[in-house]
Amino acid sequence: MQSALRNPSRAAEAAPERVLGRHGSAGGPLLVVTAGIHGNEPAGILAVQRVFATLSVHKLALRGELIALSGNRAGLERGVRYVDADLNRLWTEEHRTAAAERAPEHDSTEQREQRELDAELARCFAGDHESVTLLDLHSTSGGGPPFALMGDTLRNREVAFALGVPVLLGLEENVEGTLVGYVGSLGHVSVVLEGGQSADPRTVDHLESAVWLTLVSAGLAQAAEIPDYAEHKRRLGAVCAGLPAVIEVVHRHDIAPEDEASFEMLPGLSGFVMVRRGQLLAHADTANSRAVVAPIDGVLLMPRYQKQGRDGFFMGRAVAPRKLALAALLRRAHLERVLGWLPGVRLVDRSGDQLEVDSRIARFFSAELLHLLGYRRHERRGTVARFTRRRDRL
Ligand SMILES: [Zn+2]
Repeated sequence: MQSALRNPSRAAEAAPERVLGRHGSAGGPLLVVTAGIHGNEPAGILAVQRVFATLSVHKLALRGELIALSGNRAGLERGVRYVDADLNRLWTEEHRTAAAERAPEHDSTEQREQRELDAELARCFAGDHESVTLLDLHSTSGGGPPFALMGDTLRNREVAFALGVPVLLGLEENVEGTLVGYVGSLGHVSVVLEGGQSADPRTVDHLESAVWLTLVSAGLAQAAEIPDYAEHKRRLGAVCAGLPAVIEVVHRHDIAPEDEASFEMLPGLSGFVMVRRGQLLAHADTANSRAVVAPIDGVLLMPRYQKQGRDGFFMGRAVAPRKLALAALLRRAHLERVLGWLPGVRLVDRSGDQLEVDSRIARFFSAELLHLLGYRRHERRGTVARFTRRRDRL
């Protein structure tokens, strides 16, 4: 790992262990940190190695337990995002059921990684823990500041907002089968931190700081017990100064399978730059070079500057802080129950967990408001969209 420590753009020479480290004991809160779910993102591995080194030097006693797991070990060894399939798209019900029915010897590379990681996560979650938080460490192929991604539950907000970086909402409506989506569906707190550009040494710093801050927000330590806590907080705050606190993801550019290798972003773009509708962003040039333009005015997110994966880029819009505060208030007061009285909105059952919204009738009713109330869209038939709510465990 020495060369990778000096240069995070280089892959680790040997695959890291599945369990990267363990500190503390069951009984209190559990924080699971995953790193290297994408094999070309070794910065998270380096960050957790630093955290465990500091924990042992300072002999820090945690309330509860910190466990760090590596993700795509085969991908990390080769320095590629994935070998056969993206490990961060395999956590759907469908894939997990298929895995349970399949003999392990028929697993693809990432199916084997998932089988092992899934079993390790199950062992972690089975322990006697007060609460469970997952922090999934990533980095991006393009440049840009760190940011967090989460399913919008009130408990996820506490952990994500404690990082002091922009928080992206609504990504999971555009991306199926992520690890955080799966762990969130188990009822645990579940947040992704994108630390910055994969080869930038500062990305390791950002990810390390995020782990320290999350040890506090997840209840394993007091800020005063963490060495250099103020510096970790300052570091993330400084690099994100002036950025919107919350951004709603409203668009994903899907790269057609035949364009996966040839899709190319324009050079020099990075995450969090403002782009205008119609602005040229990329070329998809399998047959004849086709221009890809921004479909809306907004913030460019995660432009793809590597050769793998079908997420070309995402676009988002800033959410006003007062809207977010209002939504938290409405959710705590369970005001979503009145939604069924509105024209064009039908509660699928009494719980209010599922809504059908007819966009012809409920024109006043924005998807953004539903997102802020904790619903996500998961199906659309004609003009009727079905929304499902994540449960807030208060
Ligand atoms: Zn990643």
